[in-house]
Amino acid sequence: MTELSALSPAPPGSRDAVLKFYFGPMDCGKSTLALQMNYNHGRQGRRGLVLTKHDRSGEPKVTSRIGLGREAIEVVDSMDLVELVRAHDRIDYLICDEACFYTVEQIEQLADLVDGHGVDVYAFGLASDFRSVLFPAAQRLFELADEVCRLQVEVLCWCGRPGLLNARVVGGEMVRTGEQVVIGDTDASPVRYQVLCRRHHRAGLLGESAGTAQTAQ
Ligand SMILES: [Zn+2]
Repeated sequence: MTELSALSPAPPGSRDAVLKFYFGPMDCGKSTLALQMNYNHGRQGRRGLVLTKHDRSGEPKVTSRIGLGREAIEVVDSMDLVELVRAHDRIDYLICDEACFYTVEQIEQLADLVDGHGVDVYAFGLASDFRSVLFPAAQRLFELADEVCRLQVEVLCWCGRPGLLNARVVGGEMVRTGEQVVIGDTDASPVRYQVLCRRHHRAGLLGESAGTAQTAQ
């Protein structure tokens, strides 16, 4: 008989925990949904942790474009997510925002938490980087998740087509080479990101708004 802890196996007969990945371009409402989901689970008396990495606020928080926000645990590369959960009393679920920036090993740890310990994991993030290449963590989530869901909350390209891909814009020009992760859209950064349809991402056309800060609305 093992000692009860945050990581005790789920009792026999209970449902399997799930690993779900919600993905979409920036501004598609991922963080808003992450916060809503945390609220819903919390209301049912479930205990969870909210994790993030490189939130737009630059702080250990999950914030959404529409003004919601809450404190969160900032994930760093050296963090073992199983150990993180083990350090808490009882955890029923994890909300993992910006999961595309986690390490591949941390995605494996999320799967361990689901399978070995009955923790539901709801991961949110970008699928692909500014080159339209999958982030390694997102790729692993596609491979491992029980359920994958594309979020498309009316984020549009300047042409009106659905926005699918993130372009990196430096000095008003779209770039296709560089580090996979560069934080932009802050006052201190010359880098910004713009959501485009596939056609205009491939063509490198930013529309009339090129050079100005843009939100998706
Ligand atoms: Zn377009």
